[in-house]
Amino acid sequence: MTEYASVPPIKEANRITRLWREHGPNTYPIDLSLVVEHIINPTLDGERLHLVYSDFDTYDGMLNTRDGKKWGAFVNEKIPYKGRKNFTAAHEIFHFLAHRQTVKEFRCGDLELSDYRLNKLEIEANEFASHLLLPPDKIRPYVNGEFTYDAVKAVADDLGASVSAVAYKWLSLTARPVAFFQSRNGFVSQGYASESAYKRGIYFKEEKEIPQGSSTQKCQDASNHIASGFDPGLWHPELGGYEDVYQTSFEEFTYTFLRFY
Ligand SMILES: [Zn+2]
Repeated sequence: MTEYASVPPIKEANRITRLWREHGPNTYPIDLSLVVEHIINPTLDGERLHLVYSDFDTYDGMLNTRDGKKWGAFVNEKIPYKGRKNFTAAHEIFHFLAHRQTVKEFRCGDLELSDYRLNKLEIEANEFASHLLLPPDKIRPYVNGEFTYDAVKAVADDLGASVSAVAYKWLSLTARPVAFFQSRNGFVSQGYASESAYKRGIYFKEEKEIPQGSSTQKCQDASNHIASGFDPGLWHPELGGYEDVYQTSFEEFTYTFLRFY
């Protein structure tokens, strides 16, 4: 395993949250430009982080430096949702805080920004961003409601985080059997189930084929937003449920929200 200076992501998110609440405005969505300027930069010795929103062709976010002192955390201005921009910014900020001694340049796209189990550095950046933007006390009141695109999007807008970040956090906190996955071109790219769904044998492997006749398949073929009930045999041998699917305009991923009954 690669050696790098250890900055625990949850602890670091809690530290910033505490400063934000006790000495800062304590408003949500948290303002990451203020966090960089008033919480991060004053503690640096000769280095400086700049949070920059600009246009580039690929990737959602990047971190790099020209001289080892001035660092840029770049967020793609083309990302259409404020919450997703915010999540990307927080993710790049953690690459700066914890990983800049090991890796001098990061380029992060959808797979990195929703990675919770493959690449350690990306997982840490996501855990930090998720914990900072979606503190448990702020998101817990929502998670026993219906797990739908609209419900998750509303939380993402309120707290300033991406839809996928809210969905994954929701799965980790809810008592209900629900699941969320991202897919493209007929195959799952990443997906997770809540604990109660996982106990019923529901999980998603990368490259799992999307079943014919599912709303996800119909949505990938033709539509922007589809929801419908499904019978046992489609997503689970014995459980039916409800499938709510949204096709993102950015990077063409499909987001699927499953509730099992
Ligand atoms: Zn990254």
